[in-house]
Amino acid sequence: MASREPNCLFCKIVAGEVPAEIVREGERTIAFRDINPQAPTHVLIVPREHVATAAEAAHADVGLLDEIAREAEEVAKVDGVAETGYRLIFNTGTGAGQTVFHVHGHVLGGRGLEWPPG
Ligand code: 5GP
Repeated sequence: MASREPNCLFCKIVAGEVPAEIVREGERTIAFRDINPQAPTHVLIVPREHVATAAEAAHADVGLLDEIAREAEEVAKVDGVAETGYRLIFNTGTGAGQTVFHVHGHVLGGRGLEWPPG
C-alpha cells in the first residue's frame, strides 16, 4: 500500500496542502467537513495512508474500516447527532457515485434521511 499518491486530493488534504475544515485528527485518520454538504452534518473520514476504495481497504489493511467507524461515532458526538442517529456511507466504485479514489466514510446527520438512498 502506497502511503501517498501525488495527484490525490485527499492525500493533499491529509498533508495540509489543500485546506479543509478539520473536525478530528486521529493517529490513522482525519475527519473534515465536506465542501458540498448534503446534510447539516456531512463529514468525511479518511485514512492518512492512501488506499483507493473500501473494498481495497478491507483487504489491504484489516482494522482500518473499523477505525473509520469508531471515528464516525466520535464525529457524531462532536456534532450532537450520535443520539438521534447518523449514516456512515462508503460509495465504492464509479457506479455507486465514488468520485475521489481515496477511501472515505461519509458521516451524514442532522436531518431526516430517506431510505432507500438516491
Ligand atoms: P464521493 O463522491 O467520492 O463518495 O465523495 C467525495 C466527496 O468529496 C464529495 O461529497 C465532495 O463534495 C467532497 N469533496 C470534493 N472535493 C472536496 C474538497 O476539495 N474539499 C472537501 N472538504 N470536500 C471535497
